[in-house]
Amino acid sequence: MDNLREAMKFILDIQELDMKMLRLMRVKGDRQKEIEQIEALRKELHLQITDKENEVSDLSKQIQLLEQKIQEIVAKAKKLEAQQSSVKKVEEFNALTQEMTALEREKIATEQKVSDLVDKRVAGEELLSKIKESLSASEENSLALEKEIKDSIKLINEEGSHLKSEREALAKKADGELLHIYERLLRNKKDRVVVPIENRTCAGCHITLTAQHENIVRKGENLVFCEHCSRIHYWQEPAAVETGEAAAPKRRRRRAASA
Ligand SMILES: [Zn+2]
Repeated sequence: MDNLREAMKFILDIQELDMKMLRLMRVKGDRQKEIEQIEALRKELHLQITDKENEVSDLSKQIQLLEQKIQEIVAKAKKLEAQQSSVKKVEEFNALTQEMTALEREKIATEQKVSDLVDKRVAGEELLSKIKESLSASEENSLALEKEIKDSIKLINEEGSHLKSEREALAKKADGELLHIYERLLRNKKDRVVVPIENRTCAGCHITLTAQHENIVRKGENLVFCEHCSRIHYWQEPAAVETGEAAAPKRRRRRAASA
């Protein structure tokens, strides 16, 4: 790296684009989560509907079976009645009467079961239509929201691809070695990794540095890393120097420290 200062300028520009990209991707991630939540809610309602539908159809099957059973009981009772009219012996007649009474009891019990199941089915159907109503209401709302989110993701993607091509153009001009080091640090930190020294502290981790460290960075001859957070340090003249207040830095430093 012949001219570290110059090389650093490119990296700093690239870093600003990368920070924009990171922010953009965070927003995109948040918006995608919103979409996932909407989809999860809809899925949940669909599951509830399927469950209720299965329950209702299960009840219908049970009702049908019991109604069949009632018909069988009725048929059997008719048969016994016919049999009874032709018997001669009292014992036989009484035995048939007992059997018919038992059948009648069974019929009443079965009819009661059917009636309970029908009530249950009515309640199930009512709940089902309520869930369906709330699904269609939430679908209308969520479709509008979903569209808005998808539109914003589309804009984010467009902005992202602009940033990407801008970055690619800059990366071509940047020092390859320095870019490589920078990118490795960025992958670890997902934050600014080329930072200035401010009031003799690292602008990345805010830990105070030695005067010797500051001097090496100020010279700008070698690449210097923060010994605490591994970020790359660069020298940025304090604003006061640029405006000509030569004596200001010391006082400023003290003021900043007590603030
Ligand atoms: Zn640091």
